[in-house]
Amino acid sequence: MSSTLRFQVVGEAFKKRPIEVPNREDRPSEFFAKYVFNRQKMFKYLPTQVYERMLDVMENGTQLDLQTADAVAAGMKRWAMELGVTHCTHWFQPLTEGTAEKHDGFVEHDGKGGMIEEFTGKALVQQEPDASSFPSGGIRSTFEARGYSAWDPASPVFVMGDTLMIPTVFISYTGEALDYKAPLKKSLKAVDKAATAVAQLFYDDVTKVVSNLGWEQEYFLVDEDLYAARPDLLMTGRTLMGHDSAKNQQMDDHYFGSIPRRVAAFMKDLEIQALELGIPCKTRHNEVAPNQFELAPIFEETNLAVDHNMLLMSLMRRVARTHGFRCLLHEKPFAGINGSGKHCNWSLSTNTGVLLHGPGKTPMENLRFITFIVETLMAVYRHNGLLKGSIISATNAHRLGAHEAPPAIISSFLGKQLNDLLSALEDSDDDQLFNLKGKKALTLDIPQIPELLLDNTDRNRTSPFAFTGNRFEFRAVGSQANCAAAMIVVNTAMAEALTDFKERVDSLMAQGVDKVKAIVSVVRDDIKTCKPIRFEGNGYSDEWKQEAARRGLDVEQSAPKMFMQYLAPSSIEMFEKMSVLNHAELVARTEIKLETYIKKIQIEARIFGDLCLNHIIPVATRYQSQLIDNVHKVSDIFSSEEAHQLNHNNLKLIKQISEHSTFITENVELLTDARRVANRIENIEEKAIAYHDTVAPLLEKIRYHVDKLELIVDDELWPLPKYREMLFIR
Ligand code: ADP
Ligand code: MG
Repeated sequence: MSSTLRFQVVGEAFKKRPIEVPNREDRPSEFFAKYVFNRQKMFKYLPTQVYERMLDVMENGTQLDLQTADAVAAGMKRWAMELGVTHCTHWFQPLTEGTAEKHDGFVEHDGKGGMIEEFTGKALVQQEPDASSFPSGGIRSTFEARGYSAWDPASPVFVMGDTLMIPTVFISYTGEALDYKAPLKKSLKAVDKAATAVAQLFYDDVTKVVSNLGWEQEYFLVDEDLYAARPDLLMTGRTLMGHDSAKNQQMDDHYFGSIPRRVAAFMKDLEIQALELGIPCKTRHNEVAPNQFELAPIFEETNLAVDHNMLLMSLMRRVARTHGFRCLLHEKPFAGINGSGKHCNWSLSTNTGVLLHGPGKTPMENLRFITFIVETLMAVYRHNGLLKGSIISATNAHRLGAHEAPPAIISSFLGKQLNDLLSALEDSDDDQLFNLKGKKALTLDIPQIPELLLDNTDRNRTSPFAFTGNRFEFRAVGSQANCAAAMIVVNTAMAEALTDFKERVDSLMAQGVDKVKAIVSVVRDDIKTCKPIRFEGNGYSDEWKQEAARRGLDVEQSAPKMFMQYLAPSSIEMFEKMSVLNHAELVARTEIKLETYIKKIQIEARIFGDLCLNHIIPVATRYQSQLIDNVHKVSDIFSSEEAHQLNHNNLKLIKQISEHSTFITENVELLTDARRVANRIENIEEKAIAYHDTVAPLLEKIRYHVDKLELIVDDELWPLPKYREMLFIR
């Protein structure tokens, strides 16, 4: 019987566990948003006048006065206390990727030696968390020492456990954004303004345009005990070593396979809790890799959808633990099998309909459809480098460009029909082309199956920004990222493209050109301009890399260099013109991205070095000594000729172990040296580049030898849970 920790935990993990399937009598329609202070609750708990003021604030973004805030807080407190709530917190999204909160009790002195529960409008509207411990990229030192959080009435307050959670923006006292929400809201305002103006060219009754987001969250589950026995998973979220399991995803048997019972119980529990928090969960399924799953809700307005995704990620982590799992949101927890992403389905809709939906019933509707498609392409074309900068991170870098995830070049796939149409429009003067035919029906020759409407798009899984019928799907976003980073860029770039479009149409119309002709002419110009971004082929191929470079698309592979896109002149101009982020904020953000990158690689390198030196090498040496022992003993009892033959294999192994061990030890030393050299670099951009160029590659190089040792060393001695043990939930 082996005594290694690994065997103990693997044994535990594979024991039959009780499966706790949550048991609910009521239906989702009854418990949906149970813990959300939504309109229904506002109506019930607020005086009519206050309720109406709140609607105006939420719908039209008007400023909230303190008197109304007091009245809202009173109603909220009443509702929350009925749910047993004792604390409240401002909940915000600092630039560290997660969420942050600081809880305050409802209690106040009553002046008579006792306590009363109190929650005022001021506490609802504003709080001062100790901002100094959140990354600010130097903003607070240059501007003002303090930061504060301010309520975002567009995202409803909710209850988790005993706490009232208030979604807020997080800003410095001089007004610079220290979070994702503040610029996201500005980008949504910018795209609303620009898209409404363009939509009004087609429809008289449009007053507002909303940006929608439907994310699809991928994740892995591993048994908690196994997770705890892997210091690398614990500290970095991914396995830094580990040989492929003989069976992983090559059978393609996990995708849409039946969901293991323990996982199904977790999913059910998660869904119930998410629904209670107002997250409209819709889809769940297995993903391609073993132990990989996905959850997708119905799409929502982008600001709310982002909050819901952040909330869901923390909920996932928490619920997983109650089922004996750990939820891995890292983009690449296991080498050699698919990583996790978060597809962001993005669209714009007016108060009267979806703008990216087509073809329509009238030529004017078709022209509207083409206009919004082409201007999206213009946005993606102009800022393809920045879009990549918005999704790249030390962790997502492992996924991007691998042959399972979007390539590290941003392009857009439209599908044959739409692509042909744009090409035809580009060449022809015939405005009649906008008389598109309706959807073609596809008749299936299968008994009892009705005809399906042929979607206007086929699928191309290799495209990072694909049109999928009524929306674009941005597939390069990382699984643990805050989708706001990507959505800020998409919406701001779209606002810029539409503003620019409108200006050109207006100027033609001012010269007396008829409206439709003016629109068609500008659209036609733009179809030509943004042509390089359209790509229908295989995004994984090497030819595409060369072709994309020829087309002038951003083909940079290094994460730190991609971050610098935030400071490209075209980016600064766009963000400032659209009033989303100013120069100082962009400098700060870039600095934080670089700093985070450095820290992540730094931590990985340290853990990796430790694991090599005090987990792997000692075990390899012990096994090698056993082999040497055996060689001596064999030599003792056999003639030297016989012994020579019998020891052949072991001698080979002894040599291999020495070779791998020497390589590992020597290179771990080089790894430490590389870190030291990088740490001495003052300039943060150069430092991050040094980490990327000199530290990160060594990890991969050394890992190869560790994984080889895993194959050689006695299984009983190996200290870390292996891929085959972690990847198949029983
Ligand atoms: P698939 O895996 O085929 O891409 P899913 O059903 O898993 O599709 O996810 C599709 C996502 O797209 C869902 O979150 C859905 O709500 C969202 N979605 C659908 N229509 C729109 C739209 N018009 N705008 C934004 N998101 C949308
Ligand atoms: Mg998808």
